[in-house]
Parts: sequence; C-alpha cells; structure tokens
Amino acid sequence: MSVLTLREAHEFEAAGRQFLYLVPSAAVFALDECSTAVLDRLRLGALDPDGIVDALAPRFDPDEVSGAIADLRRVRAIAETAVAAPMPKIMPLTPVPLQTLVVNVTNQCNLACTYCYEYGEDKIVDTENGKQPKFMSEETARDSVDFMFRESRDNPTAHMTFFGGETLLNFPVLKSTMEYARRRATELGKQVDFSLTTNATLLRPDVIEFLAENHVGVTISIDGPEDMQDKFRVFKNGMGSYDVAAPKIKALLARHRSRPIGARVTLTKQTLDVTRIYRHLADEMGFWEVGFAPVTTAPKRDYAISDGGFDDLLSQFRALAAEYKDAALANRHHGFSNVRETLQELHQGHAKAYPCGAGLGLMGVATDGDVGLCHRFAGSDDHKMGDVRNGVSWVTQQAFLASHHLNEKTDCQQCWARPICAGGCYHEANTRYGSTERPNLHYCEWIRGWTHTCLEIYGEIAVKNPDFLRQFDDPLDSPDPGAPSLGKPFEQVS
Ligand code: SF4
Ligand code: SF4
Repeated sequence: MSVLTLREAHEFEAAGRQFLYLVPSAAVFALDECSTAVLDRLRLGALDPDGIVDALAPRFDPDEVSGAIADLRRVRAIAETAVAAPMPKIMPLTPVPLQTLVVNVTNQCNLACTYCYEYGEDKIVDTENGKQPKFMSEETARDSVDFMFRESRDNPTAHMTFFGGETLLNFPVLKSTMEYARRRATELGKQVDFSLTTNATLLRPDVIEFLAENHVGVTISIDGPEDMQDKFRVFKNGMGSYDVAAPKIKALLARHRSRPIGARVTLTKQTLDVTRIYRHLADEMGFWEVGFAPVTTAPKRDYAISDGGFDDLLSQFRALAAEYKDAALANRHHGFSNVRETLQELHQGHAKAYPCGAGLGLMGVATDGDVGLCHRFAGSDDHKMGDVRNGVSWVTQQAFLASHHLNEKTDCQQCWARPICAGGCYHEANTRYGSTERPNLHYCEWIRGWTHTCLEIYGEIAVKNPDFLRQFDDPLDSPDPGAPSLGKPFEQVS
C-alpha cells in the first residue's frame, strides 16, 4: 500500500479555521477537523492510509478519515512523495499575444523627483544625452498602434497605456494617437482601451475634459500630503509640487467620474507613514484607490528603505489591510489597492512562472520606437526586444523567457511565496543586483509577511462573506487552476 506524506504547503488560520496554501498549485484549501487531524498525524511521519485510519480511530469514523485522505490527495496536499516536482518549464511555442502596450510618449519630465528611476542616480537609460528623441513623433506613435494591434493577434481588446517622463508634456501626440488607434480598432473589429500615468501638474481644464470624454483610465503619481509630496516630488528649481498638483487633481476627480482614478505612491525611508498618506489621498482628496510601492533604488541611497523599514512597512500595511477586510465583510469599498491585487491573485490561483507580464503580454515602447521588456526598460539597448516597425524578435523573446523562468531562480525553489512572487520585479533586480535574472532576495521577508497577511484576509472573507470574492473570478480561467501561469495578463504600470 502507498505511503503518504505531506506536500509543500503554507498553513494559516483565519476566522477560527485552519487553511492550507498549497504551493505547487497555488490553491487555498480550508481544512475541517478531520483533515487537520490527518495532516497532524502525517507530521509525525509518513504512513499508509490504513495506518492513518487506525491512528485516528479513537476520534473519527473510518469513512470520514478515508474521505479526508481522498480530498487531501485530490488537492495534492498529501501524496506518495514529499518531493514537489519542479514546476514544468512551460514555454510558449509561439509569441504570446500582447495585452498591454506602454507607450513612453516622452522621456522628459517637468519635475525632478530625486528618487526617479528614469532620471535619478540609478537610471539605466540616458534620456538627456542618449540617442532617443525627447518626444515621440506622431509617426512613431502610429507605428506603435499598428504594432500593438498586430501583436495582440486574435485578442479582441488591446490596452494602450501612455507613460513618460511626464506623459502630458506630449499631449498633442497622445491625442492624435488615440484618434488613430480608435479608427484602426474599428477597421479591425477590435476594442481598444486607454490609460495613462501623470504627475498631475499639467492637468489643464481642456486636458481634464478630454480624459473624461474619452474615458481614459488615469493613475496619478503622488506621495501624500504636502510635506511628504514635497520631500522628493519637486520641480527643477527645488520647489515642491503639491500646491500645483492638488487643485488640478481635485478638478480631475470632480469632472472625470466614468472610471475610478487611482493614486500611486512611492514609499521612501523618509515617507513611510502609510496610514497618513492613505487618509489624505483616499479620504481627503477622494481617490478611489491608493497603491503603494517601495522606491526602487540601490541600497546605498539615503532614501532606500532599510531592513527595519520593511518591518515597519509591513506592520503599517497590516493595519490598513485590516481596514480593508472590515470593509469587505460589510460589503463596503476600501481603496487599498495592494490588498485587492493580492487577493485577486490568490483567488485566481495561478502559480506564476514569471513575476509579471513584462516581455510577455506587456511591453514598453521608447520614444524612438524601440520595444523593451516594459516601460521601465524602454530605450535600454540591453533589454531591447525589437522595435515597432520590424516587430519583436521571437528568438530574443524566447531567450528571455528561458533565462527568467522561475525554475532558473534556485534561491526561490524552497520558498512558499513563489507562486505569487516568482522572484519579483526585473527592474528592481536590475537596479539592486545588476541583472534582471536575479531574484529580489532583499525583500523576501516582506513578501512572505505580506502574502501571509493577505491569505488570512482571504480566508476570513471566504468564510464570512464569500460573495465578495466573486469580483475576482478570472474571466480567462484555465480548466486546470493549478496550471503554471506565464505571468499576469495585465500590469499595474508604475
Ligand atoms: S524572491 Fe524571495 S520571496 Fe520571492 S519567490 Fe524568491 S525567495 Fe520567495
Ligand atoms: S513588475 Fe517590474 S519588470 Fe514587471 S512590468 Fe512592473 S516595472 Fe516592469
């Protein structure tokens, strides 16, 4: 008879119940008393099913134990071998359809944020003296549109996101590109969706009107109340940008109501007060959602978050996440988007082979039309995938996919959070370690702590208000929820 043992799983408790996060399949499994007892017994050592039934006979009916064993085997929480087979290295045989194209319409900015990955000390592309034009031409933008529709293949919808530099510095090209993309979409029988990221300082009334009328999704880069915003987000003369940006944001929020407007906050060592930032942006200014990201930087910069800072960050995230959970249980909206995104990933249960869609379903275009892994790599010759006129090199893309697969990250193979993290952002790794292939080992504790918190919230909502989770159902659900995923189909561009 087969001898059973535990498979790789992360345990957590929520709403007074035990749960397992099954690492190979990225599935969440609620345990009842009997299945908990089966697992407890197997923790003492491998045993065959009859042995388990005998061991638990004083507490449980044999049929109940056999049923629990069958369920645990079905979800692969227990098996005949403890050794998890490595994730199959599934590689696409043909190019993956493009879902999102990020178009950097300019590499110039009217602000001079100290920590900016594009202009700061850690930049990878020389946007001042490099080969690229400072502004994308109408012709290159149109070529980008054609490239997007071509590469989106049979997908019915293409997503175009405008980015910079400061996107609105090239508003004329942004406008004409949208008109052209709409026309081409109609001719091709497709849909096209638009969004952009801006620092808000150039939101004139006519720009706001255009964004509202055209249902453009807008993300505002802003770091919080005045003292925090003005610490790093300054004009070139050193003047803070809050007083310029805040009234324009209020005007945008008042007029543009057809799509939720989100704020995107960069956290630094000096601006780590998550709750105060959230209160200001969500409650006082009226953003629908607020998302936070630790600054991407080499560790030696004075704004880099230290190890102790990550602990502080985690406890602040946990406090705000508890608010999100309470709101979810009462069917109220809460705008802490980091929780929503992680709950969605947990709910959809994809075990990621790649941390994000960069180089797969998402690519970035530089002002000269070069196509890079994502918007942060656009214009970097070392991370070029092709260009909008000649297309993406499938050989280059395949080589990237082969070398960046989770299986190549040996440090991650024993980590229970790998289905969610998969090694983390390539740009962060490149800035920290000089290579996109390296996992971001400097923030593992933070990732595991945050994933554990989101699992607890997920479990509590699943028990107390399961209908809330329906919003996260995956429209692209694969028939095998445990199948490895090639990355997130859509990307929060930041
Ligand atoms: S980078 Fe760290 S947290 Fe992420 S999968 Fe690898 S080991 Fe786990
Ligand atoms: S996670 Fe990093 S590599 Fe991926 S799309 Fe975002 S910035 Fe680019």
